[in-house]
Amino acid sequence: MVWDLSQLVESTAPDAIKAELESRVAEAEKIRDKYHGKIIDLDAQGLLEFLERKDAFTLRCEGVAKYSYLLYSADSTLGVAKELHEAARKARMRLDQALAFIIIELGRLLAENPSLIQDPLLVEYKHYLEKTLRRVPHILSEAEEQLIITKDKNGIAAWQLLQSDWLSTRTFDIEIEGKKKTLPYGKIIGLYQSPNRDLRKLANQTVYENLGKDEIIWASAVRAVCDDHLQVSKLRKYPTPMTQSFITNDVTKKTIDSLMKTIEKNVGLYQRYLRLKAKLMGLEMLASYDLVAPLPNAPEMRYSWKEARKEAVDAYSEFDEEVGGWVDEMFEKRHIDGKVRKGKESGAWCASWITGKSAYILQSFNEKIGDLYTQAHELGHAIHAYLGSRNQKPSNLEIGSCIAETGSVFGELLLTERLLSKAKTKEEKQTILVNLLDEFGMAAFQVSARVFFEQSLYDAIEQGKFLDGETVAKLWVAAREKIYGDSVDWLDVMKWEWTMKPHYYMANYRFYNYPYVYAQLFVFALYKLYKEQGKAFVPKLKKILAAGSSKSPRDLAAELGFDITKEAFWEKGMEQAKEFVNILEETI
Ligand SMILES: [Zn+2]
Repeated sequence: MVWDLSQLVESTAPDAIKAELESRVAEAEKIRDKYHGKIIDLDAQGLLEFLERKDAFTLRCEGVAKYSYLLYSADSTLGVAKELHEAARKARMRLDQALAFIIIELGRLLAENPSLIQDPLLVEYKHYLEKTLRRVPHILSEAEEQLIITKDKNGIAAWQLLQSDWLSTRTFDIEIEGKKKTLPYGKIIGLYQSPNRDLRKLANQTVYENLGKDEIIWASAVRAVCDDHLQVSKLRKYPTPMTQSFITNDVTKKTIDSLMKTIEKNVGLYQRYLRLKAKLMGLEMLASYDLVAPLPNAPEMRYSWKEARKEAVDAYSEFDEEVGGWVDEMFEKRHIDGKVRKGKESGAWCASWITGKSAYILQSFNEKIGDLYTQAHELGHAIHAYLGSRNQKPSNLEIGSCIAETGSVFGELLLTERLLSKAKTKEEKQTILVNLLDEFGMAAFQVSARVFFEQSLYDAIEQGKFLDGETVAKLWVAAREKIYGDSVDWLDVMKWEWTMKPHYYMANYRFYNYPYVYAQLFVFALYKLYKEQGKAFVPKLKKILAAGSSKSPRDLAAELGFDITKEAFWEKGMEQAKEFVNILEETI
């Protein structure tokens, strides 16, 4: 259950790693000396050599940087981990500064000579260059870009710091089983999933009541973040507040419009699921604090590390032997850290290791069914890395959020299929399906409410409205209502739900939300195809995962014969969700 990070580096001696980091910074400076001011003169052959050198450099930096970062995330209390993490962070900053000229100069070269993108010599870099060119009209001069970075640090980025500092230092008083307790935010939100309904209600009431008390801070922050974004969007000549996110996510407005329309048309399906869940919980109607709650009679399903490995390997092997083999290798080579320990980063993630054509996974494994799902999810990311690193240049492995969750969500569905086929009682089946549909509902529908909400903030500003706390709360409730209708009974204080979402306060991160919706429906649609086509579908999914970011999401789907700009494609994902809801209904 403990990973082996020594594979990432030649020597794990801290001094050797620090020396290695230093030599990478020196190498970056050499690249700068050679190319600064000269990219503009490159022909196709010269550009190819430059891009290959840049990729080779990325790979050489990977091992030591990853080692330092992963060591720290597994145990931040270790002195050596702190030391190496700090050294790697500093090296990273110096490296970024040395190479900051690349995007600006490369952009200029492509703007002046766009035919380079079509040059057969550069065929493997074609989409990478297309994406770079798409950013060009919105890049300002080097001096202006530096000014924006400087003013953001103490300006707009400070709101995010304030919000996270507020949340992490606040404590909440709550009575649990007759005992008064004072809990930090990270602990009290754990009660949202308590099997005790009254406690869930009290935890939600306590948190949001307190958040609402500081509405003046949150509204000031949201106002500033939105207004800054509008101003900068104008400077950068983005036609709408959403355009920047389309470019980052490699999608178009038409695609996202179709996606969101499909969501609006299918809110009835989600509401039908929520009514079924209410029935399973013995309730007239779900309250807001029941949305992610477990079923009252959920059987305890526990899995040892060994059993979890078997479930994951079998689930993936039933799909494809080669993929199952890679999943097994992740355990065999000890690339997963599952041990629970103090000083370990919370949550879970998968870091790809391109040089080793593999990946590393961090999670805290507590033998619960949720841990099994987390593992299957992260293993899906690992498979994405296995296929991508075997087929693409490092420049083509900067996978945008819409596609990045393809392997992971698909893996969760494979696990669901396996667990359902083995379930012995109807209660087990219901637990598995509710687990799956709660997640789907959150990622596809509740996140959509946040898309509508964010859009409505900009609309309100354009109409000249002043966004005070109550006005923002009203916009949030209106967006929420579009999704939930009258299917859920909300605590009044939930109007302050927007105050705790860190994303709304992050600088230059507007409309972070719809890629989650995209990923869910995209993968559900793919899974439906898999059910229809069986083994014939397997190479198609592998091809998507092997493509990395070498193609746009639209072209990836087109290869399967789909047009993601049309609602018909997204409906396919909804059909799959409907099938799961039907299976759940049959168990009642
Ligand atoms: Zn993920």
